[in-house]
Amino acid sequence: MEVLLANPRGFCAGVDRAIEIVERALELFGAPVYVRHPVVHNRAVVDGLRARGAVFVEELAEVPAGAVAVFSAHGVAPEVEAEAARRGLQALDATCPLVTKVHLEVLRFVRAGRPVALIGHAGHPEVAGTLGRGRAAGGTMHLVESEADAERLTAPADAPLAYVTQTTLSLDDTRRIVAVLARRYPRLAGPAKSDICYATQNRQNAARRLAAACGRVLVVGSPNSSNSNRLVEIARAAGAAAHLIDGPEEIRDEWLEGAAAVGVTAGASAPESLVRAVVARLKERGARAARELPGEAERVVFRLPRELQRGGSGLEDRGENGVGQNGQANQDGEQSVRHDRGVS
Ligand code: SF4
Repeated sequence: MEVLLANPRGFCAGVDRAIEIVERALELFGAPVYVRHPVVHNRAVVDGLRARGAVFVEELAEVPAGAVAVFSAHGVAPEVEAEAARRGLQALDATCPLVTKVHLEVLRFVRAGRPVALIGHAGHPEVAGTLGRGRAAGGTMHLVESEADAERLTAPADAPLAYVTQTTLSLDDTRRIVAVLARRYPRLAGPAKSDICYATQNRQNAARRLAAACGRVLVVGSPNSSNSNRLVEIARAAGAAAHLIDGPEEIRDEWLEGAAAVGVTAGASAPESLVRAVVARLKERGARAARELPGEAERVVFRLPRELQRGGSGLEDRGENGVGQNGQANQDGEQSVRHDRGVS
C-alpha cells in the first residue's frame, strides 16, 4: 500500500499566527491566559495550549476582570470587544487578517446602503462575528446557508444586495449559491476577490488531486473544523472514500482493506505532527514510505500584533476601521512573505 500526501495540507498562516499569539501571551504574561473559543478548531492544538496554561472559555463573562484574553482566529463581533474593554481585560486579537478583510467588506457595503447576504454556516463563530460586524454598523444582514436559502431570501428583487462569504466554504457550493443570488438580484455586488481564503482554496484543490490519485482519503482534522469537513466532502465528490480523523487512533482497518494507495491530507487547523503520526500508523499496517504530490507553494505569513512582537512597543495600534496595523493584511489580506510553520 502506497501513502500519498496532499500538497499543501495542514496549518495556514492564520492558524500559525493565532497559535503563536497564545504562545507569546503565555511567555510574556504567564499563565493563565484566557482564550475565548478554541483558538483554532483542532483538539490536539487546544490540548497542547491548555497544558501550557491557556484556559478556553466560550464567553468573556467567564474571564476574571483584568486578565489577559485572546480572541480566536475566527473573529468576534464588536460587542465582544466592547465587553472586554468594559471589564478591563487585556485583549489580544488573534482574528485571521483574512477574516478581518471580510469584516471590512461588510462595513463598506453597509455604508453604501446595501443589505448584505453572508453565505456561511449558522452557529460557526466566524459567522457570528461577521454578522455582528454588519449589525453593529446598522446594516441589514441575511445568513444564507444553501441554494434553498438563497431562493427563499425575502429582500425585494430590486434591493441593492451585496454578498460576502465565510472564508472556509466549498468553492463549488458557494458558486452555486452566488448564482442563485445573481439570478434573483440583478444589482448584486460581491467582493473583488473571493472571500474563500487562499489556504482553503489550495487545500480543496489538493484534496481533489489526491482523491483522483488514490480513491481513499484520510483527512486529519477535528469534527468542528469547517475547512476539514469541506475537504472530506470534496474528496467524496471526486469519487474517493474519505474519512475525517482527529488522529491515528481513529483509523479503521476496514478503510484500508485491499487499498493500493491511501491519501492523507489535513485541514488548515491540523498540525503536521498529526499527519506524521497518521503516516506512522499506516506504515505499521504495511504501507510503504509516503510520497508527497506536487502542489502550490505557500509563502503567506501574518505578523503578530505589535504588543507581542519581540521588542514591541507594548501598545496596541489599531486602524480606524478595526484592522490592526501590526503586520496586517494588504488589500487582499495577504502578505507575500515566508510561511514558515506547519506546511511542508
Ligand atoms: Fe485565515 Fe484561511 Fe487560515 Fe481561516 S483558513 S485562519 S481564513 S488563512
